[in-house]
Amino acid sequence: MRAMMMDWIETVVSRGIRRPGYPADDWTAAWAAERFTEFGLQDVRLAPVELPAWRPVTASLEVRLDAAPAQAVRVAAFALPYSRPKAVVTAPVTREVVPGAIVVPEYAFTELPQFYVRDLAKAVHDPEGVFDGLVQTLPFQLDYLDVIQGAIDGGAAGFAGGLTGVPWETRDYYVPYDAVHRDLPAVWLSGGDARRVLALVDEGPCTGTLTVEAETGPALSHNVLGTLPGASDQWVIIGSHHDAPWASAVEDATGIALVLAAARHWAGVPQEERPHNLLFLLTAGHMAHAAGTRAFIEEHRDLLGDVVLQLHLEHAARRCEVVDGRLVPTDDPEPGWWFTSPGLEDLVARALVAEDLRRSFVLPPDVFSPMPPTDGAFFHPEGVPLVHFLSAPMYLFDSADTLDKVHEAGLEPLTRAAVRIVEGTAGWRRS
Ligand SMILES: [Zn+2]
Repeated sequence: MRAMMMDWIETVVSRGIRRPGYPADDWTAAWAAERFTEFGLQDVRLAPVELPAWRPVTASLEVRLDAAPAQAVRVAAFALPYSRPKAVVTAPVTREVVPGAIVVPEYAFTELPQFYVRDLAKAVHDPEGVFDGLVQTLPFQLDYLDVIQGAIDGGAAGFAGGLTGVPWETRDYYVPYDAVHRDLPAVWLSGGDARRVLALVDEGPCTGTLTVEAETGPALSHNVLGTLPGASDQWVIIGSHHDAPWASAVEDATGIALVLAAARHWAGVPQEERPHNLLFLLTAGHMAHAAGTRAFIEEHRDLLGDVVLQLHLEHAARRCEVVDGRLVPTDDPEPGWWFTSPGLEDLVARALVAEDLRRSFVLPPDVFSPMPPTDGAFFHPEGVPLVHFLSAPMYLFDSADTLDKVHEAGLEPLTRAAVRIVEGTAGWRRS
């Protein structure tokens, strides 16, 4: 099964960048629907989801020393998703926000000690005892969606965020992804490029030209749905998303593979042994503010009161170390967050132990924020009981999310744990 799941992941990744509205994402949705049909699911369909697309084309920053304009630094950049799509701005370049200037602030990822998360957890599975000393590098700062708001409020002419606190050299940071159009020319610079720009800025007053070109506009994606009838009139929804910031392997080709594996398993089980009706869901537009999940909820409000469990499966990720500025995958999983509604914690904790899913936390859905940071987040305010598995490796939004980052050894145990959790809801009713 592990080889089959890796084959699925490789198939999806090989199509290229899967941002909402990109051909590779449309292809993946159609391909996943074919797999659902092949497994024997019923009512397989592609449900349209309207969303805003974002396609970066080019971006750069050139900075010149005013006292000696021949001293110049020109660097490539990566436009922030859904920032102003077309701009050529020439203005002073500053470290701090100044009205009318291009600000080059430094940006770092958050370091999260695992003992801190453990204190917030309802249960943990940590047989190695690593949580005492392990520190996880998260792929964001806590205010990452609002990262350019201070520049906008301060009247800056542009934003060129320097990824100097990201432990490897990259500008491919697909953040923010809440699909909010923020009307400021805004780009990311790699750490090394930002340091070169800032070294010039520190020599004296500088003028820069920030150039951005991107395409944005409405697009039509599709949620992928399929069902299997069960032994009750209640429902379990098993989901993930099919889009991605890049050709991403972990985010979320692994989630696609976990949902496909669950669908294949339950299709091979007699109807009377499926505890409830099962709905399999691969959503569109996670990278556009979970557009697919929101569209599904709007279309299926009548169903939500009969859902005993909404299980979301995201990111079978290897933990990476950074050696000499390079990401090096280890054989360890990134710590796994299992956002779990009250009443389901024991069921999830037992599944984690049974499948020895080490480095796992059972957490309240709202432990970090009002909604969990998952593709299925919008089920939470609807009062749907949920179990959302997610890990957040530092490369999650980066083009470095390649096949070597997939935690292959976790694919089968995660699939079996998901089956155990669904089995454990036998006989449950919402009302
Ligand atoms: Zn994901």
